[in-house]
Amino acid sequence: MSEVRLTGGCQCGAVRYALHEQPTNPHICHCRMCQKAFGSFFAPLTGVPLDKFELTRGELAIFRSSDPTERGFCRNCGTPLTFHDVGRPRIAVSIGSLDRPADIMPRLQFGNESRVPWFAELTALPGDTTSEQDDPDLTAKIAATNHQHPDHDTEAWPPAEGFAP
Ligand SMILES: [Zn+2]
Ligand SMILES: [Zn+2]
Repeated sequence: MSEVRLTGGCQCGAVRYALHEQPTNPHICHCRMCQKAFGSFFAPLTGVPLDKFELTRGELAIFRSSDPTERGFCRNCGTPLTFHDVGRPRIAVSIGSLDRPADIMPRLQFGNESRVPWFAELTALPGDTTSEQDDPDLTAKIAATNHQHPDHDTEAWPPAEGFAP
């Protein structure tokens, strides 16, 4: 296949994928189905032609949220990964599952009828970084026992030497 442009995968590392073309139409969808599927206020998605999407490890589990729509996720850890309208020649991936999500800024929003009314106020919330949380012991324990796959492809997972990133 052509050059790998972008890579991504689920939290546990059982499913990894590559996009062989720069994805287009980056957007967030506020519709109620996307809220449920992502367990969040919106779904961030960007798409490529089907033949530019390659699963490089594992398999997608599929939930058909409506007859036309397949939502792919990791059966092991539950990370939402793909959105595909059956019969259409494109597939979208969740921007948060990409290894470099900050590179893909959404340019549109859909499903605005279900957008939470305080969406625009979220960035003004008070808060700290993870390292500024008030339980440094817990923060250190999480860091030392991190089971999350790193943000790059790996030869094997989980690694033979253990989970430390
Ligand atoms: Zn997983
Ligand atoms: Zn939606």
